[in-house]
Amino acid sequence: MPELPEVTTTARILNKILVNQKILSVWTNYSSPHFKGKKNIKDKKYFEFFKKEVVGSKIVSVGRIGKNVLIHLSGTKTGSKTELRRGLKTILVHMKMTGHFLYGDYERRGNEWLATKPGPLQDKFNGYIRLIFGLSSGKYLALSDVRRFAKIAVISDGNVKNFEDIKNLGPDPMEKEFDFKKFKSVISQKPTGRVKSVLMDQDVIAGIGNIYSDEALWLSSIHPETQIKKLTDNELKILLKNIKKVLKFGIDMGGDSTSDYRRPDGSPGKSHHAHNVYQRRGEKCSKKGCAGTIVRKVVGGRGAHFCDTHQRKK
Ligand SMILES: [Zn+2]
Repeated sequence: MPELPEVTTTARILNKILVNQKILSVWTNYSSPHFKGKKNIKDKKYFEFFKKEVVGSKIVSVGRIGKNVLIHLSGTKTGSKTELRRGLKTILVHMKMTGHFLYGDYERRGNEWLATKPGPLQDKFNGYIRLIFGLSSGKYLALSDVRRFAKIAVISDGNVKNFEDIKNLGPDPMEKEFDFKKFKSVISQKPTGRVKSVLMDQDVIAGIGNIYSDEALWLSSIHPETQIKKLTDNELKILLKNIKKVLKFGIDMGGDSTSDYRRPDGSPGKSHHAHNVYQRRGEKCSKKGCAGTIVRKVVGGRGAHFCDTHQRKK
């Protein structure tokens, strides 16, 4: 699943290429009766509403909150009944397991969309177009999503912070204000929680998932099942430093493409080449002087990878 570094990479690139472009059309083949009445384009009726809200709008910026990509729009056509004040609408996209945005030249063939130019957009990971926006530049913004878990909605009233997917999110670990005091206060809400699960709890801290929690805990010599209340201030300081370090590294490398994530030009990021633990089960630990082996264990429903030697259980 795309985590903070992948979502940041996507939002930054889209912000460079989409600003001032107008949305001319939108198409989707997401559709599921399970989403009836929900704020999600998988509900057919909601998609009709979504279409009315976004077609004709201009993109003013692209940002991120937690793992959500936010595409901010100006108002719709002047004089229309749905006219809203400028800058009041936002498209929210949570890419979930396998979703990722792509940008380029596409053409429709029946019920599918194909990238027309040879290159990374034609990579097999990029061929599951479920949503596509036609833009004023003549190019398209597409969402490839093999597993179909992504969530797409429009926030019509401008109140992004109070939207259902945003309002309960914890603080962003890459913000300057996210210091030791803040970190300790948020994770202490779950004193008996296992550190791996607490780090991945989006209501506690927004943006960390399976990959970066494994890597940060390995660097910090902390066992993923350690209860929060058993961590010393010194361990928490080291952990915070390493969380920021692995997230920054992920952003600098253009994200992690172990799984389906690709950048908007269709190319993979590079951060997965530097994994110390994630999906390295059975390999020798690469920490200097450690003779351990990387093992995998399910913690809170997710596979945790860690060294059996230097990440001791307390
Ligand atoms: Zn080790």
